[in-house]
Amino acid sequence: MPLEIVTIPCLSDNYVYLIRDVETGTVAVVDAPEAAPILAELQARDWQLDQILLTHHHYDHIDGVEELVKATGAKVIGAKADAHRLPPLDTAVSGGDRLQLGNMNYEVLDVSGHTIGHVAYIFHKGLAAFTGDSLMAWGCGRVFEGTMDMMWETMQKFHALPRAMDIYSGHEYTANNAKFALTIEPDNESLLQRAQAVKAERAKGEFTVPVGLGLELATNPFLRAGHIKVKTALGMEDATDAEVFAEIRSRKDNF
Ligand code: ZN
Ligand code: FE
Repeated sequence: MPLEIVTIPCLSDNYVYLIRDVETGTVAVVDAPEAAPILAELQARDWQLDQILLTHHHYDHIDGVEELVKATGAKVIGAKADAHRLPPLDTAVSGGDRLQLGNMNYEVLDVSGHTIGHVAYIFHKGLAAFTGDSLMAWGCGRVFEGTMDMMWETMQKFHALPRAMDIYSGHEYTANNAKFALTIEPDNESLLQRAQAVKAERAKGEFTVPVGLGLELATNPFLRAGHIKVKTALGMEDATDAEVFAEIRSRKDNF
């Protein structure tokens, strides 16, 4: 395993991830809703924090940054497009940029829609994608700032990643997302099986993230808007993929 990844729950339902390049011991954290649980985990493992990767500007992803920087001196990385409303950035990035964590390369993906300037961090070699509130386990973020077309374009960027990629998203919303997904494809065996698995995990208090992209592609209605089965289920056989996505997203908003 070239990367070691640790999931830290924060606030009521946020997830933060520590990523460690095993060869060099270099460590990053993805998002910082609050500093205390992150500092405690770093201390318990005797890890030095080098980088703070920000996905987007919402408070539940950045409020702990200042304290974390003071305590660790870590460098802050975030979207150039969001620089005016993120904590001070040491590195301002855009979609397509490539960065290094120790010996590991990672790529910035522009995944705007939930917010404009939302980015994801893709570790191709480690098969790990840190997606914040863009693609989420069995769901996607609400479209607050972008357009439905923009968010659908973002969903398509995830289609282009290898199916073996693990998706590390920003919240534990999966049980509720399961209920919604089943309203779109109630008879799909893959969804029914996944719903059982999620129920069992939550009953044991386990995290439902990360999740493999392959499973997301098979079950996540927001990724499946272009699928004929989904279009038929919604009576939208003649609609464009983006229109179907918009319909699913607005149904979820009112769910
Ligand atoms: Zn958000
Ligand atoms: Fe959030």
